[in-house]
Amino acid sequence: MRDRCGTGDELCKAAAFVLTNGNGTIVGLGLICFDCHYAGVRWPGAEGIDRRLGTQETWSAIERELKAGLPTTLLSPLTACAQILVGRADVRVQWVGWAKRLEADDPSESPVVLDALLFEAADLIAW
Ligand SMILES: [Zn+2]
Repeated sequence: MRDRCGTGDELCKAAAFVLTNGNGTIVGLGLICFDCHYAGVRWPGAEGIDRRLGTQETWSAIERELKAGLPTTLLSPLTACAQILVGRADVRVQWVGWAKRLEADDPSESPVVLDALLFEAADLIAW
């Protein structure tokens, strides 16, 4: 599954998150695709995407959380999705929906396409 995400019938489908501080101000945007084991954060002012790495256990937990369905309220900092994106209690993570499904010519390019989508999405926000 991981080898094909983004190609053919396996369009890459990522969960999108907003990251906020204690005042509710948006301080980052995040994307997670379980199938290509992609987690990335766009922080304001950063030149690129902060690719986040998880262990096998983290990814197994993320798969369970995504399959169970995420709440639309703030995620517990203890959830694997929040852990992989920020791993800090002072930044809150909220699922906002699914990103548009993406296609890549080659599955190895899917993370690059997701980086670009995240970068573009950040333009919606006046940081
Ligand atoms: Zn994917």
